[in-house]
Amino acid sequence: MKKVHFRFYEELNDFLPKKYKKKDIEHTFYGLVSIKDMIQSFNVPHTEVDLILINGQSVGFNYLVNDGDRISVYPEYESFDISSVQKLRPKPMRRPRFVLDVHLGKLARLMRMLGFDVFYENYLTDEQISDIAKKEKRCVLTRDVGILKRTEVERGYWLRNTDPDLQIVEVIDRFHLTGSIKEFTRCISCNGKLLEIDKELIKDEVPQKVLDQYNLFYYCRDCGKIYWKGSHYFDMIKNVNDIKEKLRKGTS
Ligand SMILES: [Zn+2]
Repeated sequence: MKKVHFRFYEELNDFLPKKYKKKDIEHTFYGLVSIKDMIQSFNVPHTEVDLILINGQSVGFNYLVNDGDRISVYPEYESFDISSVQKLRPKPMRRPRFVLDVHLGKLARLMRMLGFDVFYENYLTDEQISDIAKKEKRCVLTRDVGILKRTEVERGYWLRNTDPDLQIVEVIDRFHLTGSIKEFTRCISCNGKLLEIDKELIKDEVPQKVLDQYNLFYYCRDCGKIYWKGSHYFDMIKNVNDIKEKLRKGTS
């Protein structure tokens, strides 16, 4: 039997059972176990881990744990500025793209409303979600820790909030997206890009009273849905402003 000591830092404690939270954990095991598998056995998905120190040295996920190791596990931790350590996460995405699990339809719509690139379909299996994440280099957002433990998922994030209005603020804050908000650029239904279109070209597809009242029209390049800056648009702007206000309050 081998024995090691663990310490999980910061928000990694969100995943631990209460008896382990913010405590030194003594853990026993047999045979050969990689540090990645051992960490995930504590319910902490590898996508949340950015740095592992064993006896003060940084190691990769394939490290085989030795008897007596002292193990410190850190999340992405911006103030932890030691350039010589081996960070485990790929470089942050310059323009993040996301894939959301099937329970996050409302968040998907809110994110698209703000112009973020969000793959979402309500029928995807965990396997399909992780395939899309891998092929299209998308970050998985989920409330299901199980998806994040899958090897193919390189980037992922477990949402702490259950209310979509709080989840959207959490995502923008966590991924530093405030400066990337571009409302009215993406189709809320299908994630396609919105393009401006001449009123003349859509006059048969929009009710006359809408044509009389508005001049700027957009259509979705992918599904053809037509948008205009009507009451729906003003609701959306109000929603965006509410989100920005929450962000300001949360970070001050
Ligand atoms: Zn569309």
